Amino acid sequence: MNDFLDWARDLSPVVAAAWLFGANLVSFAVAMALGHLATHSLSRHRVSLPPDPLETRELLYTAVGFVVNWLITIAAWFLWRHGFVVIRRDTGWRAWLDVPILVLVMDLAMYMLHRIVHLPWLFPIHRLHHHYDRPRPLSLFVLNPLETLGFGLLWLVVILLYPSSWLGLSTYLGINLGAGMMGHLGVEPFPGWWSRVPVLRQLGTSTFHAQHHQDVHHNFGFYTLIWDRLFGTLLPTYDAQFGHPLAVPPADASHSV
Ligand SMILES: [Zn+2]
Ligand SMILES: [Zn+2]
Repeated sequence: MNDFLDWARDLSPVVAAAWLFGANLVSFAVAMALGHLATHSLSRHRVSLPPDPLETRELLYTAVGFVVNWLITIAAWFLWRHGFVVIRRDTGWRAWLDVPILVLVMDLAMYMLHRIVHLPWLFPIHRLHHHYDRPRPLSLFVLNPLETLGFGLLWLVVILLYPSSWLGLSTYLGINLGAGMMGHLGVEPFPGWWSRVPVLRQLGTSTFHAQHHQDVHHNFGFYTLIWDRLFGTLLPTYDAQFGHPLAVPPADASHSV
């Protein structure tokens, strides 16, 4: 792995950008393929209504978001190459400890940023993502580019401040993509008893984020429920409605009669 890190650090900027484009593209394709596989094989476990037909603008925002994420990874490579970001090379228990550290720190930072973009004067930026209250795997990437940039900068700040191992950092990036994809499946891959088991019940689920798309006042976290529990924003009926779509709110129901 050390040879690979040396090789990657010494690439020319153009070649590094091309490799990062490929790595981002493969990650995107794998996540989408697994997402669609889960959506189709678990269609009897829907936690939100089936999505509306795909709109062209969803594809456009996804393409723009892809470019923003690519630029963020180029910036990270550049900062690493010039010594501003430190990536440790140890592989023992300390390296694995970086996984929960990065997950919890990023979860708190993203929870706070998510609460901020729900403030009335910033919500217009976030409204696009909430337009899709019946998420599909692609919805993970349908964000205002400013929002994608904001989350990317947050990650850059964390890796600038915290010298993680390559093991911890790459595992975290996998968890980030997997958790984000799971939150937009529209189906729940975990069994009904999941939300009643200690420790497991603290982890983010498809139900958890699907509920946020149906009720914008609750469930702002991403990887865990810890910060929502701590700050009192977890949907009170999360456990009771785990694995099921939210009931239609009374206000909406009144429109339909
Ligand atoms: Zn979402
Ligand atoms: Zn939101």
